[in-house]
Amino acid sequence: MIEELKPCPFCGEEGFLEKRELPDRPGAIRFFVCCRNGACHLKVETSLYSEEERAIAAWNMRTDPTRAALVKALKEIRDDGMDARTCMVVATNVLEDAGEL
Ligand SMILES: [Zn+2]
Repeated sequence: MIEELKPCPFCGEEGFLEKRELPDRPGAIRFFVCCRNGACHLKVETSLYSEEERAIAAWNMRTDPTRAALVKALKEIRDDGMDARTCMVVATNVLEDAGEL
């Protein structure tokens, strides 16, 4: 089943699945998703994929800021070799800062 397209992460307009023939390989079709809103200053589009599903999955990928902050903090903890209690305190602080706790 093909995943539904999320809106453009920058302007909120609908995303569009497009096809493009590779200029150097006639008949080779690739898929990508883009924002066609002329007022969207970022003109965002995915890379080219041979399957529609992969283009849609790339378009629909979103970063969760809380998750990103937690992953960053945990990587620092791992690299510093902190003890379990300190890990818990740091992770708790990240989630409190994000308003999750
Ligand atoms: Zn847009």
